[in-house]
Amino acid sequence: MDGDFAHLKRIRRTDADGTVILSILLGSTTSVCETDVRAKLAQRLPDHQPRLYRHGVSRWPPLTRAQYEAWKDTWPMYWRESAARKDPLVGAARDAVQTLMRDHVLAHVAKVEQETSHKPCSAGLVYDPTTKTVLAVAHDTRATTFHPLAHTAMNLIEQVAQARGSPTTSGKRKADDATYLCTGLMVILTHEPCIMCSMALLHSRVESAVYAIPAPTTGGLGSVVKVHTERRLNHKFKAWRYCEVGSVREVLGSVEEFHY
Ligand SMILES: [Zn+2]
Repeated sequence: MDGDFAHLKRIRRTDADGTVILSILLGSTTSVCETDVRAKLAQRLPDHQPRLYRHGVSRWPPLTRAQYEAWKDTWPMYWRESAARKDPLVGAARDAVQTLMRDHVLAHVAKVEQETSHKPCSAGLVYDPTTKTVLAVAHDTRATTFHPLAHTAMNLIEQVAQARGSPTTSGKRKADDATYLCTGLMVILTHEPCIMCSMALLHSRVESAVYAIPAPTTGGLGSVVKVHTERRLNHKFKAWRYCEVGSVREVLGSVEEFHY
């Protein structure tokens, strides 16, 4: 059988009125010649008359338990939880992100708006899951600084660089700092970063990124391209779409169409 169908079991057993029926999956219709199969069956099993028929099956292996449960009745299949699905943003991890988004990112937006009468169009933070520390909180400052590169993610990386004495800001680098700026760190954003920012996150070696509102025309973490999983690049990181967008839209929804 085709290697592409390794997720499917070869034999399906069904019982009908006390009769056991065994169905054998031979392969895809593009790889199996019906005429040849009929000729071989007639030659090797002359006393039996197995029925040859086409049956729709899942082209792809299930990626989630729910998909497996829904698809296995069509044709028996194997369930193998892939490594990529072992670390979803659920449970305690999701609760932690919600808390960080509410208490730090959205609180930062409200604070900036209150102090300057200017509502940021997007904001975010950098979080160290190991020490459970917020290392940087920033927002998009293009409108106030007139700097074209002052996107939220760029400002966040700049803050981390300043805190760590990166040569990009101070001209000197700590002797024992052999890692990249954001190795092991998580970035949480109100909006999907643009492709430039996504590349900046990749270059700084973030561990993961979470965003709430997608950027359909500029997004680099799923909407336009998937920078974080691009196989031609030398670093990959996890990226999630944050589902609890209600509070984020409530605070920033009016500027959703801005390009991030
Ligand atoms: Zn950007």
